[in-house]
Amino acid sequence: MAQEDVFKKVVSHCKEYGFVFPSSEIYDGLAAVYDYGQNGVELKNNIKQYWWQSMVLLHDNIVGIDSAIFMHPTIWKASGHVDAFNDPLIDNRDSKKRYRADVLIEDQIAKYDEKIDKEVAKAAKRFKENFNEEQYRTTSPKVLELQEKRDALHERYSKAMNAMDLDELRQIILDEEIVCPISGTRNWTEVRQFNLMFSTEMGSTADGSMKVYLRPETAQGIFVNYLNVQKTGRMKIPFGIAQIGKAFRNEIVARQFIFRMREFEQMEMQFFVKPGTELDWFKTWKETRLKWHKALGFGSENYRFHDHEKLAHYANAATDIEFLMPFGFKEVEGIHSRTNFDLSQHEKFSGKSIKYFDPELGESYTPYVIETSIGVDRMFLSVLSASYKEEQLENGETRVVLSLPPALAPVKLAVLPLVKKDGLPEKAREIVNELKFHFNTQYDEKDSIGKRYRRQDAIGTPFCVTVDHETLSDNCVTLRNRDTMKQERVPINQLNAIIADQVSLTSLLKKLI
Ligand code: ATP
Repeated sequence: MAQEDVFKKVVSHCKEYGFVFPSSEIYDGLAAVYDYGQNGVELKNNIKQYWWQSMVLLHDNIVGIDSAIFMHPTIWKASGHVDAFNDPLIDNRDSKKRYRADVLIEDQIAKYDEKIDKEVAKAAKRFKENFNEEQYRTTSPKVLELQEKRDALHERYSKAMNAMDLDELRQIILDEEIVCPISGTRNWTEVRQFNLMFSTEMGSTADGSMKVYLRPETAQGIFVNYLNVQKTGRMKIPFGIAQIGKAFRNEIVARQFIFRMREFEQMEMQFFVKPGTELDWFKTWKETRLKWHKALGFGSENYRFHDHEKLAHYANAATDIEFLMPFGFKEVEGIHSRTNFDLSQHEKFSGKSIKYFDPELGESYTPYVIETSIGVDRMFLSVLSASYKEEQLENGETRVVLSLPPALAPVKLAVLPLVKKDGLPEKAREIVNELKFHFNTQYDEKDSIGKRYRRQDAIGTPFCVTVDHETLSDNCVTLRNRDTMKQERVPINQLNAIIADQVSLTSLLKKLI
């Protein structure tokens, strides 16, 4: 199946099976805002739990907080967001569509990469087992010419972005003859800066009101509380503070479903360290976070690091963890060594000392910070895309199955009476009432058993049990495994022992240590 089709199918599957709905759908939706349905919220909560427990439960030097979305507006001045949280924006006069100039150019760079890969693939087909890819990439005149163009463009683009030279960004778009995908024309406006923060008024009257922002990241809530937490929690450096919460960005181009939203959720952890040790900690957190992703079992080949060449002025190292989405490798998480920039800025703007007193050194300093920042919604999309499968069955039918890691599945067990009579529903309810205290259990009696299995496959339920007439006499049920579709007869009183461990977050967390 073409990757584009996979993506379309994932999006419609999300809607059809109660994972994700467009926001305000009966009013034709609201761009780049989505609601999570009955299964989506369970999956999302499980992702959040996996992250939270991996941070707070497994590290005795990491604690959590939950700070408010509204914060003093000066915080965003200090952090640099008021002045510099901008994207370069460009409009096409014919289609009236708006684009991010940097994204148009990055897409163009990706096109060169695709062309090179196509050349290589063609040659591989031609030369078969004699093909030496390395040699071909470094000697083929066609590939070298494309590579040279690509590198020149990349360098020109990086320079323009570093200097935020808006005229140059526009000139690159013109020189590369980039056209609007809708109108197909090159009738571009100037490039302008566009601030991504949403603002609103706090207070009732014009006189007394104050302009406040919806936070574009949760991190600042951690920075301004770090000393509160350090003192009240008697934390010693190195220590971390974790937070999960909503963030808001007025993204210029909202595409790709829940990949780029205007209201989304972040899971961020700021790790405070002694100056000079930050690059070692950066390395440690890179490894720790990649391990967290890989423990889900989607395959190592689906992840890669993308180290930043262009660093924000306050960072001394940064990388993204990218995941192979149906539309290519994309950032899911950022890991940044942010130096002492944020804390120093807050000291400067608030006029208060927020230095840490190090009892071992007997001196005070402003800690350095390593940040790990992951979007819940992007993680959700990566989990769904990797789990979505269409399988051809032996009997010629196809089934859609979400092979979710059991610990993340919205429902762990479905209990199905074979028929809606003869005391089978009552027996099935008895099982649900017993097991629902241990994990999420669903009762379903509608339609044929085959249809009910398909429904549970489609939402990723790892186990189903069927209650039949024999159950009433032998107290055994048929247990069906989602992935293998194998069925076995097991006593009801062993169900918890068989299932609980396999679907628990604990077994997933144990893979991390
Ligand atoms: P991008 O370059 O894709 O805009 P970013 O580098 O601005 O992302 P960060 O500021 O590092 O992203 O945010 C950390 C994480 O928050 C990202 O890795 C991503 O998972 C998530 N995130 C950021 N913006 C959005 C958004 N608009 N919608 C959904 N998730 C987002």
